[in-house]
Amino acid sequence: MPKKPTNEEYCSFCGRPASQAGVLLSGLHGLICHDCAEQAMRIFKEQVNDSSRKGYDPQAPIPTPTEIKTFLDQYVIGQDAAKKVLAVAVYNHYKRLRYNALNGDKNEVEIEKSNIVMVGETGTGKTLLARTIAKLLNVPFCIADATTLTEAGYVGDDVENVLVRLLQAADYDVEACERGIVFIDEIDKIARKSENTSITRDVSGEGVQQALLKLLEGADVNVPPEGGRKHPEQKLIKINTRNILFICGGAFDGIERAIAARLNSNVIGFKGDEKRQELDRDNMLQYVQPMDLKKFGLIPELVGRFPVLTYLEPLDREALRRILTEPKNALVKQYVELFKMDGVALDFEPAALDMVVDRAVEYKLGARGLRGIMEGIMTDLMFDLPQRKADTSYTLTAEEVRKRLR
Ligand code: ADP
Repeated sequence: MPKKPTNEEYCSFCGRPASQAGVLLSGLHGLICHDCAEQAMRIFKEQVNDSSRKGYDPQAPIPTPTEIKTFLDQYVIGQDAAKKVLAVAVYNHYKRLRYNALNGDKNEVEIEKSNIVMVGETGTGKTLLARTIAKLLNVPFCIADATTLTEAGYVGDDVENVLVRLLQAADYDVEACERGIVFIDEIDKIARKSENTSITRDVSGEGVQQALLKLLEGADVNVPPEGGRKHPEQKLIKINTRNILFICGGAFDGIERAIAARLNSNVIGFKGDEKRQELDRDNMLQYVQPMDLKKFGLIPELVGRFPVLTYLEPLDREALRRILTEPKNALVKQYVELFKMDGVALDFEPAALDMVVDRAVEYKLGARGLRGIMEGIMTDLMFDLPQRKADTSYTLTAEEVRKRLR
């Protein structure tokens, strides 16, 4: 501890004078500077984390694929094929965590991660599925948008910042972060634009895919805790991505053509016409194969890191109708709760909901359109609601929806 040469005030923890340490907070018996207070905060946080962290329990029961699917059914309408594939992938992910935890480094078999790609139109439930899985697993979850990612050194987000977001979602608990789920949206947007590589590297394409590879493979990655660019003096946090599950989604506009071309050339050698008739032309995504992703412009190494590939169906009228009312947090249920808080029992005429669905179909925004349309209809009502204290019930009629949609 430096001696006190003058009567200047000193931090009681690091001994620096106020002239160096800045503002000092005083307690009953001493003073503390900003740096020491921060350090203390960090230590407290770590201790709380240590004592409250139940840690990963490899003996805990693993939900079966059927149970996982049942859970997904509560939130996501339809998409049975994707749900099944996801349920198995998640089940295997659990088993893999257990296997690694029990066997440590003495694993005889390396069970590979089941990173997932979901192909499907916008607004069909890709993000919702990933989010619901994270809810089920009770692990940290974050969403990243592939379109904002760039290779290190370019303007934009370093790929590693994806992990910063996960770390933040885990409240800086590194161990929890290392078991989290990352959802990367619009993965199709980092596809190589053309087959021939140009002399100038493309910022948003292959370089990003290469950078992503490293994360997917399972590596120790040093990330700046606050995100942003790394700089030399910065403290970095090491995150191992070995057990982080990556789920990617993308619309892959136009991939149907690649799928169709492949299927057509495949069946030529057979009794073509019979085979061809079996194809469901309206939903070509169901036939998607890894090679179609390559054709689309994902590099083979990246495609190889996504052993699980599934598709989402376009949502038809019936599915949209169910989405309005059935999921645990369906829009209709949300409005009913909001009105209930003002003492009003809200009800919808079935025909009123049908009209909302018709409009959503018209807009071609999938389920994403439902919310905007409903808001448009409900806003005036919600504005007036608190004034109309006398009302105890309200039924939204088709007639009213017609008026408001106009
Ligand atoms: P995507 O990621 O495929 O573009 P999202 O999962 O973000 O679409 O869905 C957009 C909105 O529509 C979300 O608010 C979600 O609640 C709703 N939604 C989409 N698909 C479904 C579905 N199959 N079941 C229930 N809700 C859905």
